[in-house]
Amino acid sequence: MTTLFISDLHLAAGHPEIGAQFLDFLSGEARESESLYILGDLFDAWLGDDDPNPYYKGMKLALRELVDSGVPVFFMHGNRDFTVGPAFAAETGVEILEDPTVVDLYGKQVVLSHGDALCTDDVHYQQIRAMTRNPDWLAMMLAKSIEERIAFALRAREESKARGESMTDEIMDVNQDAVIAILREHKVDTLLHGHTHRPAIHKFDLGDREATRIVLGDWYEQGSVVRWDANGPRLDSLPRI
Ligand code: MN
Repeated sequence: MTTLFISDLHLAAGHPEIGAQFLDFLSGEARESESLYILGDLFDAWLGDDDPNPYYKGMKLALRELVDSGVPVFFMHGNRDFTVGPAFAAETGVEILEDPTVVDLYGKQVVLSHGDALCTDDVHYQQIRAMTRNPDWLAMMLAKSIEERIAFALRAREESKARGESMTDEIMDVNQDAVIAILREHKVDTLLHGHTHRPAIHKFDLGDREATRIVLGDWYEQGSVVRWDANGPRLDSLPRI
C-alpha cells in the first residue's frame, strides 16, 4: 500500500485544469492508496468555511467521497487556506493536522509541515504569519461578513502591491537552520514539506547522521506527488493529460 502526499494545488475557479486533475487524482490513484495527506495551499484562497464559492463545493464533495470510500484524508493548513476549520472537516470527513506533525511511515518517523514557517529569512512574512495565526485575530476575522472578508483580502493584496511585492514574486526558500531545528526538536531525520514550489529531495549532514528534506511541487503546470511505501518515498510529477 502507498501513502500519498500533495500540496500547493492553489485550486481556483480561474484555473479549472488544476481542479480537473485534482478530481481525477481523488477518484483514481487516491482511491487505491492507504491514506492521502494534503500539506496546505489546497485552495488558492479560503475566506472561511462559510465561503459560498460554488467552485469549492465540488472539491469538498470529492473529498467526502474519497473518505467515504475508506481512505483517510489529512489536511494541514497552508498560508493560503489557514482559515479552513472544523465545519470543513465535518463536511468532508478530512482530519485537520497541526503544523508540524510527526507521522510513522512504514517504520520511518517523518515530520510533516506546510513549510512557510521555515522561511525565516522573510521577516515581514513571519510577522504577518504570527498576527494572522493568532486565535483572537482569526476569530475576529471570521466573525466578519463574507463581503467584509473579501474587501479585507483585496485591501491586503493592494497594500502588498504598494510595498512593491507582486503575487508572482518568488517565495523565499526555507532557512537551513530552521530545517535543522525542526528535525532536532522532533528527533527525526526526515522532513516533508511544500510551499516553496521547489520540488526536490535534499540530503544533508545532521552531524551524527544523514538527513533528508523532501519538497513537494505545486500543481500550476503539472501535478506533484510523493508516493511513500515500504521501500521509501518517491517524488513524482503528474503530467497533465
Ligand atoms: Mn504556501
